[in-house]
Amino acid sequence: MTPKTFRIKSFGCQMNVYDGERMAELLGQQGMTAAAGGDDADLVVLNTCHIREKAAEKAYSDIGRLKREDGSKPLIALAGCVAQAEGAEAKRRSQMIDIVVGPQAYHRLPEMVREASRGARPVDTDMPAISKFDAFPARRRANPSSFLTVQEGCDKFCTYCVVPYTRGAEISRPWHDIVAEAHALVDAGAREIVLLGQNVNAWEHEGRGLADLIRALAKIDGLERVRYTTSHPADMTDALITAHGEIEKLMPYLHLPVQSGSNRILRAMNRSHTAETYLAILEKMRAARPDIALSGDFIVGFPGETEEDFEDTLNIVDEVRYASAYSFKYSARPGTPAATMEDQIPREIMDERLHRLQERIDAHQLAFNRSKVGANTQILIERKGKHEGQMVGRSPWLQSVHAETGAQPGDIIDVTLVAAGPNSMTGAVRAKAAA
Ligand code: SAM
Ligand code: SF4
Repeated sequence: MTPKTFRIKSFGCQMNVYDGERMAELLGQQGMTAAAGGDDADLVVLNTCHIREKAAEKAYSDIGRLKREDGSKPLIALAGCVAQAEGAEAKRRSQMIDIVVGPQAYHRLPEMVREASRGARPVDTDMPAISKFDAFPARRRANPSSFLTVQEGCDKFCTYCVVPYTRGAEISRPWHDIVAEAHALVDAGAREIVLLGQNVNAWEHEGRGLADLIRALAKIDGLERVRYTTSHPADMTDALITAHGEIEKLMPYLHLPVQSGSNRILRAMNRSHTAETYLAILEKMRAARPDIALSGDFIVGFPGETEEDFEDTLNIVDEVRYASAYSFKYSARPGTPAATMEDQIPREIMDERLHRLQERIDAHQLAFNRSKVGANTQILIERKGKHEGQMVGRSPWLQSVHAETGAQPGDIIDVTLVAAGPNSMTGAVRAKAAA
């Protein structure tokens, strides 16, 4: 029987969130509806992430839990990077899986659902030349802050990372498709667009780069804010840095992962930058946009990392004074060069280093938040807060800001930031900004 309702559970990065939204639109176009919260669904899509340990195991145990009390089960599609990595093996590991669909094959999902409804168990992990984006319907729904994937895949082959294997080679979506999608999102209510890519700043089309694209998008009436993530230091062009000083709608926030502060480890990771070249980029960025909030990613416990290497990482955190940052324990990914390197670091050492790193990052985050107390700024309201009359929005520096206001999601309001916590700010409303 063809399913009437569906649920999509997305794990991992923002690109998976975007893919989840697009799959929902595609299934909606086939006449299916999203199951209401708490309701059983006829079709469940698990949109998985493979970046760190036990991703596959977690996916299989999530699948096991989908069995209903009466012994029946929904139609189950394994999607995302675990699906790509496991392929047909997934069907052997779990009899409950009906569909295996990799991230570059989502345009085939409706057809695969029909096949599965007739009892087949289709697998598609191809990376076809025809883009899945061409098959997605035009966008009709948008969040106040909406994601728009412009670039996928990666050719950088950092020695710890599965992305080049699960998402394939670097591709950039064409300029006109992106501009059309941005217009559709704004017409559907988006006030902010976050351009996404595994290496978003590597985006290029017919000689134009990300800075040109942002300049064009900033001209769209009704679009008030543009962000982009995640960037690679090797693709941080002067044009993009300059854009931060010139384009008012481009928010003062940059997520630029360094991974380690030790040049020895950076080399072993096959990162193309050193601590010094990375810092030089940030210096230029701060010259172009002095109030920029900086963010990054770190891996602790990469094979061979000594206490001294780790201290270099702590030092770079102090030097940059990040407004926020993500840190992860190194996770050996099957098939990557680092997985078979000598001198894998014991778990207890990784735990201890991660704890010290996170304490250091948290201290800088709090200091950054405190430095903004007293600032008159604007927030884009995204959702209701926990308390009656409270709403939550984002500052230009991507801080979560709580404010008592009658404003609604999508409104941009003037606030003074009056208090800072480790993870959020409190805002006091001034007058409403002109729409
Ligand atoms: N392309 C981006 C870059 O190179 O900066 C990052 C994309 S990756 C999906 C997100 C983050 O996951 C990385 O920046 C890295 O810190 C982390 N990551 C990737 N592979 C990892 C691994 N094997 N173990 C732990 N963390 C990992
Ligand atoms: Fe992975 Fe980013 Fe390195 Fe590409 S550049 S291999 S996505 S960490």
